[in-house]
Amino acid sequence: MYRALLIIVAIIFSIASPVIAQPNESFDIVINNARIIDGTGNPWFRGSVAIKNGRIARVGWFDTSSAKQVIDAKGLIVAPGFIDVHAHTENVFDHPLAENFIRMGVTTLITGNCGGSAADIGEFLGRINTKPLAINISSLIGHNTVRSAVVGLDNRAPTPEEQAKMNALVEKAMREGAVGLSTGLIYLPGTFAKTEEVVELAKVASRFGGTYASHIRDEGLLVGDAIKEAINIGEQADMPVQISHFKISAKSLWGQTPMTLGLVRDARSRGVTVMVDQYAYPASSTSLDARMPNWAIAGGREEGRKRLADPEMRKKIAHEMKDGLKKREFKDYSFAYVASYRANPEFNGKNIAEITEMVRKSKKVDDQIEQIFEMYEKGGAQMVYQVMSEADVKAIMAEPFTMIASDSGVREFGSGVPHPRGYGNNARVLGKYVRELKIINLEDAIRKMTSLPANMFGMRDRGQIREGFAADLVVFDEKTVNDHATFEKPHQYATGFSTVIVNGGVVFDGSKMTGKMSGAAIRGNGFGK
Ligand SMILES: [Zn+2]
Repeated sequence: MYRALLIIVAIIFSIASPVIAQPNESFDIVINNARIIDGTGNPWFRGSVAIKNGRIARVGWFDTSSAKQVIDAKGLIVAPGFIDVHAHTENVFDHPLAENFIRMGVTTLITGNCGGSAADIGEFLGRINTKPLAINISSLIGHNTVRSAVVGLDNRAPTPEEQAKMNALVEKAMREGAVGLSTGLIYLPGTFAKTEEVVELAKVASRFGGTYASHIRDEGLLVGDAIKEAINIGEQADMPVQISHFKISAKSLWGQTPMTLGLVRDARSRGVTVMVDQYAYPASSTSLDARMPNWAIAGGREEGRKRLADPEMRKKIAHEMKDGLKKREFKDYSFAYVASYRANPEFNGKNIAEITEMVRKSKKVDDQIEQIFEMYEKGGAQMVYQVMSEADVKAIMAEPFTMIASDSGVREFGSGVPHPRGYGNNARVLGKYVRELKIINLEDAIRKMTSLPANMFGMRDRGQIREGFAADLVVFDEKTVNDHATFEKPHQYATGFSTVIVNGGVVFDGSKMTGKMSGAAIRGNGFGK
């Protein structure tokens, strides 16, 4: 009798109030049987993740029966989509699938790094309205971009009027959604700026809740001073500091990570927010110009060519380069590989020592320097430099404040010989450094790719698997996830990812890009202020 009554009550309720009888709304997607790594660093737990209207609707155990699409993740990991805080993807609107990133789990890019960004941040981020992307995009405002617009390539301090103009440009960018200020203090014209100039600009970005992200002034012999300068700027401007692609690129300082990481730890113990990011390779990638002294290339390539045309000056530059090589304890330029040389693509993939032997039949450093001069004069080259120690890479990765970032652009498949990190960085961390070498555990690696970067760049609803957060999710197999891109053959996608979801849209289904363009522009704290 009692049971019958209950059934009657239940029937009445189910008619009168269907919401109570069927509390689970219909989800757009449910990922079932997953091991959930939520991005905070907490150990994985088994459960389901439901998505509705681009957001994470439920996490854990719940009735998953009413979903439009079910993804079975048995034996697989589901994690927040990866946030790459150090990208150079001003070209993303030309390659809107951003396939090299998506296929290694990256769902959000922060571009505008190393001092170089779109000049008009509002226009850049707004482009997504007419040119949809498969990936989320966010940008810093670059110091070099601002400085060249106001001071040009001159090697001098800005006048007070020019400083005010630069400040205004940074303010405009922050109001239009930039997430902070970036510098590239080894590049032109950023290298001409004194610390005070950068502090002024950083103070503006700080007022809008921005982060100071820096390619510091020196990553070689003077790396300690350069780290101190970056911290000092953040301290004076009262803002978080992100030191980009943290490394030691002078052989004579290999093994000094206790010193470099110690500077970051000291600053943190004083209460300064300092974090770093790194790519998981002991080789860097930048221009051939970076091998020459700053003063020698000041004012651009025409000025540099003029200096090289003067025999005395040419000798002086060569002397300085040879001296620098010796101080860094490199015996020659065999660490310097050509990634892309327009004047002669046959050089691509070869190092300067090999090219010099080929062209000049010589193994001498002097001839290698002459070879560099010739290539500089003919337009320069994009290079890969094998200048770091693997032990340092591991020590940096093991730090809790280190994020994983690619320092890469969106790749055009098959074009040039770029650094492999653009295809493999995140997968390499998960495959090599987590699974094989066990430098960090899986949950910590995910944290470094998700919630840590989200916190640092003020993204309040990304980087974690949490109800209400944006549904940026990756599903992958921790046992097989791997990078395949090498320095010789970089155009190879990472494997092991079976689903990549951006704002609730499945953009990659394990075999191909679906064509879904659900990326969003992510604007900083100052937007609309
Ligand atoms: Zn850089």
